[in-house]
Amino acid sequence: MSLKIYNTLSRKLEEFTPLNPPNVGLYTCGPTVYMYAHIGNLRTYIFEDILKRVLLANNYKVDHVMNITDVGHLTSDADTGEDKLEKEATKENKNAWEIAAFYTAAFQKDLEELNIIPPDIWCKATDHINEQIELVKRLESKGFTYRADDGIYFDTSKLSDYGKLAGLDIEGLKAGIRVEMVAGKKNPTDFALWKFSPVGVKRQMEWDSPWGKGFPGWHIECAAMSMKYLGETFDIHCGGIDHIPVHHTNEIAEAEAATGKPFVRYWLHGEFLELKEGRMGKSEGNAILISTLKEKGFDPLSYRYLVLNTHYRKKIEFDLDSLAAAQTSLNNLKSTIANIQLMADLLTYYPNYRALLKDAANNFEANYGAIVRAFDEACNTDLNMPQALANLNIFLNKYQEKLDFENANEILNVLTKMDAILGLKLLPKVHELIPANLISLLNSRQAKRTEKNWVESDNLRGEIESLGFLVKDTPRGQILEIKGENKNV
Ligand code: AMP
Ligand code: ZN
Repeated sequence: MSLKIYNTLSRKLEEFTPLNPPNVGLYTCGPTVYMYAHIGNLRTYIFEDILKRVLLANNYKVDHVMNITDVGHLTSDADTGEDKLEKEATKENKNAWEIAAFYTAAFQKDLEELNIIPPDIWCKATDHINEQIELVKRLESKGFTYRADDGIYFDTSKLSDYGKLAGLDIEGLKAGIRVEMVAGKKNPTDFALWKFSPVGVKRQMEWDSPWGKGFPGWHIECAAMSMKYLGETFDIHCGGIDHIPVHHTNEIAEAEAATGKPFVRYWLHGEFLELKEGRMGKSEGNAILISTLKEKGFDPLSYRYLVLNTHYRKKIEFDLDSLAAAQTSLNNLKSTIANIQLMADLLTYYPNYRALLKDAANNFEANYGAIVRAFDEACNTDLNMPQALANLNIFLNKYQEKLDFENANEILNVLTKMDAILGLKLLPKVHELIPANLISLLNSRQAKRTEKNWVESDNLRGEIESLGFLVKDTPRGQILEIKGENKNV
């Protein structure tokens, strides 16, 4: 089956083919580590994780690189303002390096809580200052740079297709825009490659360079590190939609001006998560964190489930009521699957139980084949996870309608594959929960029912319940479910 993804660069759904199959080079822009990531940021990392898991399900080998922006960049896209890291360091009475280390660890913990597969390579901007200087030198030697008052800038007028990712109207920008202009900056879209440390100021993070002491601009770290680890042209680069007009546009400018080659083949961008009142952000003071959700009693994976219920290119308006609904749906899914696992384990480990059940002819392909293919098709059609989840539900309903425990093991195999993409930890371990005397109780109860001794049969039901299991009398015989209060699952 072919994988189709929406490429921001072409503004089209395209068939995905890697440059060097079976490898796929994937670069995802990481966090600026001066604060905790909020659930809006984390929505973008969940979308990227789904992309990666779908690639893996298609048998690609994914080389995933994520950066950590630990250089203190300035608080506006226009290269002016205060340094975020140093500002936070002063506030917390720490130094900039300590702030970066602390929030990097916090971010990695958030990824773990959301069951996001970590990248193969984490790269810190501060560990790659030389690579960034080398890239600026390359741009300088090709005539793409100039010196302004506060740094070395990229001259965007020298690159004929500057702004192609965002479809930027450069002439319109020149005529209309009123950006905070730095003295000596030639065009509104020009951006800093290297910033000078201000005269008389000792910054906590600064490095020597051919242009004087200072620190790299933001975009250059991603251009330099992605090309170092994935090559000058690589397959996929992602981020949130806010990165399209400035950050990714400028990464493309830097990389393509330096190499003369196309930088990235597929650009994917995730839509924002917002609150009713609008944008969520550190500066708006309304940031919701994973720890906030946990304090309110939510499982972080219910947030993952909520995110998967909206296509990644659509906005999410977040509120706690929808998160509560997501948590309920996720718990229902998990208990349905735990009951399938229970029946599979009973049949595998207790062959005597099989004799208690009536036969039925259930054909896996006839009953489920089309649904399983629809799940795959949804994932492979621009990561349509709402559709994939709908198919998962249809799949489970079919099982419940058929009471199809002969196929339980095959169904669980399929669910394992589906969950390898969804990442919701849907499959519990049940086997250890089955008490040794469960089957003999079922046997005795069967005998009492044949004798029509309903009193004894009910007593036995009570005994089984006290072990944490519900007995259901179905056309196929006595089947078991895990009792809601059985917290071991
Ligand atoms: P930052 O740490 O600000 O560079 O952001 C990290 C990632 O989160 C980037 O890919 C941003 O595009 C993304 N992002 C920021 N805010 C939101 C939001 N409200 N919803 C979704 N993604 C976001
Ligand atoms: Zn980046």
